[in-house]
Amino acid sequence: MPKKAKRKRGLLVVISGPSGVGKSTVVRRLFKIYPGLEMSISSTTRTPRPGEEHGHHYFFITQEEFDLRVKQGQFLEWAKVHGSYYGTPRKFIEEELGKGEVVVLEVDVQGAASIKRFVEEGKLKASAVFIFLIPPSVDILAFRLKKRKTEDEDVVNYRLRAAIAELQVMEKYDYIVVNDKVESASEKIKAIINVEKERTLLN
Ligand code: 5GP
Repeated sequence: MPKKAKRKRGLLVVISGPSGVGKSTVVRRLFKIYPGLEMSISSTTRTPRPGEEHGHHYFFITQEEFDLRVKQGQFLEWAKVHGSYYGTPRKFIEEELGKGEVVVLEVDVQGAASIKRFVEEGKLKASAVFIFLIPPSVDILAFRLKKRKTEDEDVVNYRLRAAIAELQVMEKYDYIVVNDKVESASEKIKAIINVEKERTLLN
């Protein structure tokens, strides 16, 4: 009888996309329809938006604390995005991957590029899949950013320009998912994870 295939290492699911594309909403929905995924919670120096909770959406920390964590090597990768700093927790990710878990990460294009490099260089013992979430159109993205109402107009315009620049790098990703509806976008990501899990078994 053939030996049962065993997943040797975990799977990193890296999700990027322009600000306002609805990443967090889609990821939240994904966790509802796909039990058993692990979410990586980043640390940031950004101030919380209304409704955001420490330890749930992010660990909201001071610049001093962030710098200290960088020095201590606590971040797998970190980057400055829209004027604030964001860092991915190294220990959590390495532990979960070591257990063969599927870990979902929401990072910007710089973070995704770093993670891709670590995996390719073998510094991170994992399989990884890179997913870029896009809005159905730039007009819809502008509308969503304005609707958020938590940032002033300059910030919205800046983020919109950054979003258009980010869209240029999307061909570096394995999959591009259009966020037309939260339900279908999260279903598409679920399907991608299932396929990638099967592929990992063969590694
Ligand atoms: P927001 O402030 O809207 O929550 O996030 C701004 C950007 O930072 C998003 O593109 C988000 O994916 C990215 N981001 C969040 N956490 C991290 C992280 O740990 N590392 C990197 N490189 N980007 C992050």
